Amino acid sequence: MADGAAGGAAGGSPDGPSGKQDPPPSIVCLDLEGVLVPEIWIAFADATGIEALRRTTRDEPDYDVLMRYRLDLLDEHGLGLAAIQEVIAGLEPLEGAREFLDELRALTQVVILSDTFEQFAAPLMAQLGRPTILCHRLVVDGDDRIVDYRLRQPDPKRSAVRAFHDLRYRVLAAGDSYNDTTMLVEADHGFLFRSPDNVQAEFPQFPALEDYDDLLERLRGIING
Ligand SMILES: [Mg+2]
Repeated sequence: MADGAAGGAAGGSPDGPSGKQDPPPSIVCLDLEGVLVPEIWIAFADATGIEALRRTTRDEPDYDVLMRYRLDLLDEHGLGLAAIQEVIAGLEPLEGAREFLDELRALTQVVILSDTFEQFAAPLMAQLGRPTILCHRLVVDGDDRIVDYRLRQPDPKRSAVRAFHDLRYRVLAAGDSYNDTTMLVEADHGFLFRSPDNVQAEFPQFPALEDYDDLLERLRGIING
């Protein structure tokens, strides 16, 4: 956690009217794929029958290695952005995800931190009521070929949590995969949600939950506690 009280007295007291210290405001950072929507690349693998595209952040901890591998496969099969967007257009949020997110957003601020790309996320965000999402961007040439991708910054999920700490927020976070674990470590409270066994085994310090109701309850308890 960021160093808490430094400079706090300069701009007003964090103490409430009772003199008791109020907790800082909370913000919840949620992963997208596997937590609120299906894995996009798995859906694309299913749609195209390209088994090799089933590899995700659940299997490969190094995101750059994973993305280079995916872009090579797309080239090999002559597939561009439009083919992936067509599959995404047929996807829906996971059952109960929209309701969970709506309830959570009524309770506190929520930001989606994702390693997906703006070009993939837009239709899914519309179905989730357009929450704020911080993600990456694909580089696409004039022929619809995905030639590269731009990560917003290194270790983006952890960096976002650090930035929220700098803004004096208490950060609660939930995700399912390797690419979430630095976010969970950096957050004040981290949860694994519908996480595969290998990730749960490697990160036993994070409570592992399966149901939206349970996650909402845990987050609510911390926020209101
Ligand atoms: Mg995920």
